[in-house]
Amino acid sequence: MCVCTGKCPGFAKMDIWDFINRVRIELPVEYGFIHPQLCEEDGDRFLDDYLRSSRKYMVAGCAPNMQYKLFRDAFKKAGLDVKKDLIPLDIREMSTSGAVDLVEKTLKILEEDAKNE
Ligand code: SF4
Repeated sequence: MCVCTGKCPGFAKMDIWDFINRVRIELPVEYGFIHPQLCEEDGDRFLDDYLRSSRKYMVAGCAPNMQYKLFRDAFKKAGLDVKKDLIPLDIREMSTSGAVDLVEKTLKILEEDAKNE
């Protein structure tokens, strides 16, 4: 989860801690965490250290087209294809439950797609 420093009004309708805790405890993900601002310089450094090839990353935060643009270089550097290996979710203006539901629904779609491959 990326939260625009945590002060952005776009995330005011949800409890970001409830959201990430529900995702990591209730849903089939490896883990979940919050980064304050992935599109800043320290976010770039974090992505350089964190991204590994042959993995998929779901980022709940801003609009998908923004995420594709902001993270393209970092994914490329890590040997990943941002269009395939990033699953960007726009959760701004959502309630905690609405955002958790979106993650759950997206994970189900990914699971179905993986079964059909
Ligand atoms: S990557 Fe998106 S959600 Fe994260 S800080 Fe930047 S604009 Fe906000």
